[in-house]
Amino acid sequence: MKYPIKSPIRDLLKVAKEVSANKKIYPFNIGDPNKFDFDTPQYLKDALIEALRGKVGHYSSSEGDEDLVNAIFEREKRKNNSNIEKEDILITQGISEGLFFLFASVESKKHEILLPEPSYPPYISLIKFFGIRMKGYKLDEQREWQPDIEDIRKNITEKTKFLVLINPNNPTGSVYNKNLLKDITDIAAEFKLTIISDEIYDELLFDNLDHIGMASLAQDVPLTVLNGFSKSYLMPGWRLGYMYFQNMDGSMLKEIIFSLARARLSASTPIMKACAKAYTGPRDHIKEMNRKLKERAEFAYKRFNEMEGISAVKPKGAFYIFPKVNLGKRWKNDEEFTIDVLKNTGIIFPYGSGFGKKYGKNHFRSIILPPIDMMSEAFDKLEEFMKSKI
Ligand code: PLP
Repeated sequence: MKYPIKSPIRDLLKVAKEVSANKKIYPFNIGDPNKFDFDTPQYLKDALIEALRGKVGHYSSSEGDEDLVNAIFEREKRKNNSNIEKEDILITQGISEGLFFLFASVESKKHEILLPEPSYPPYISLIKFFGIRMKGYKLDEQREWQPDIEDIRKNITEKTKFLVLINPNNPTGSVYNKNLLKDITDIAAEFKLTIISDEIYDELLFDNLDHIGMASLAQDVPLTVLNGFSKSYLMPGWRLGYMYFQNMDGSMLKEIIFSLARARLSASTPIMKACAKAYTGPRDHIKEMNRKLKERAEFAYKRFNEMEGISAVKPKGAFYIFPKVNLGKRWKNDEEFTIDVLKNTGIIFPYGSGFGKKYGKNHFRSIILPPIDMMSEAFDKLEEFMKSKI
């Protein structure tokens, strides 16, 4: 029996619609920078216009446009010292399509997945939808939401085959340190696990931190990397991403994924032509974006921690913060809390347990994308609301 999948990020929109009849809505739920004061860089818009001047209305190969595959190949070698061939790259319509391919291809009866908790909700929903068994491993709030190595070890069973990493992290905004990623690679080698590494925020880091791409560490471990242009290149609605496979020659999973890609024909040809220019173009927008995000991260961190009953860890990358709320006797659970907040303040926050029941509960997620004045206006309302509930 199939059932509809849940989305804590979008499910509250129904309530928001009712609330909007007599309240201003603050959409602090969706990680879409282009809804605020960020826009696709001009050189990429120009690249699309330029592409459309040519004859680009045809299907591309299922694996992806050659120019884009070449650009990704060069970039991944340069940034992550990846040890792949061009044939190991598959262009997808956003990472989201890659996740469908991936989880549709896992042998659900045989293989179990280790997923970070809290986690980006589509991982949880799709894994469940495809009937795969999963276990959550702890991201430790006390240690800036870094993965808990002991908890990873504890949750490995005979069936565990995949270990998922999201770095920089959604929903916590943490950036993982190199030693820890090395330890995780060692665990993957010891237990013969395939690492699935979601690196979509890999250029959004504050405080001059370096992003460590898993391809640079997992030189002997099977690895699937997911990445895309939605976030750092400010093109979420263009729907383009990619995945690549390192040390996975002969893998059935990889073969099934490429066959699914053939069944869906191809990604959008003009968009791929334009994106082929992304990694070699000017990088001013990334600098500017990180400058704004750092400032907004600090602002959100300060404001949340000043509020009665709320505490938060400072984000170091991506564009989220995952505050903890002391529910007391005021709310039954975090979902009820976020609905109450929405009805009283107009702010839409996804509820924490939607990111994982064990370590997501008693939390909520906020984006840090809105300009300071908008965040300030919304957080004033939240602060008042929290005071009124003492
Ligand atoms: N992976 C993570 C961790 C995300 O946070 C998101 C979007 O929020 C995605 C994947 C989806 O990316 P895409 O737009 O490439 O489908």
